[in-house]
Amino acid sequence: MRSLKLVILSVIIVVTACVPPEVSKTAAPVLGQLKVGFDIDDTILFSRDNFLKAPHMSDDPDHVDFGWVNTHDSLYSVTIQPIAELIKYLRAGGHKVYFITARPGINGEAVGRYLSHELGFPVVLNENLFFSAKKKDPVSGHRFTTKHERISKLGLHIFYGDSDTDMIAASIAGIRGVRVVRDARSVEAYSRNYFGDTRSASGPKAPYAEEDYQKFLSNSVGPYGETIYPIYFGEPVTRD
Ligand SMILES: [Mg+2]
Repeated sequence: MRSLKLVILSVIIVVTACVPPEVSKTAAPVLGQLKVGFDIDDTILFSRDNFLKAPHMSDDPDHVDFGWVNTHDSLYSVTIQPIAELIKYLRAGGHKVYFITARPGINGEAVGRYLSHELGFPVVLNENLFFSAKKKDPVSGHRFTTKHERISKLGLHIFYGDSDTDMIAASIAGIRGVRVVRDARSVEAYSRNYFGDTRSASGPKAPYAEEDYQKFLSNSVGPYGETIYPIYFGEPVTRD
């Protein structure tokens, strides 16, 4: 009986030794290297004009033709230089940079080509550029961000974005969210999902007015406790 147990044990040891160790699908973290994520619209690109010119698929103002938008940044979007400088600084220090946008991914490669041209390094779909559209809860009808799923998969440490949902995604993923202050012209055109909606009449979904937003700015802390990163850049020149 004892020898039988020994044989079984030996077989288990041999079989275990023959099983290859599980290979991690993601690269091992590099000591001290940050993985930093950036939203695209109103974070690295001032894309208001691209959206204003985009064809619509229906009368719904939100039903934009994203296949068109994703191929027209080179004509109508402008790179926000303070963020481009920040990205350059991070990469010079050996840190890794990723982009996560809630735009639907139709013709997404074109966004990668444009960002590569503007930033001077390859921005490649599903390598360091990810499309992470919102999902609608079938019961409540609310549309929720899915960016936290990608943030977690990539193991990011910091996420920069302009919208409330960027800060929510960072919080759910358990990382530092940094609010990039949206250009005033974008706030004028698209005030929703920005401190609630500072341009809307006060209500449960829009508790903050313009003066509250200024208070957040002056304290460098947003409503979710996030760091505020104000950006100021000159009048953009669109190429149409
Ligand atoms: Mg944005």
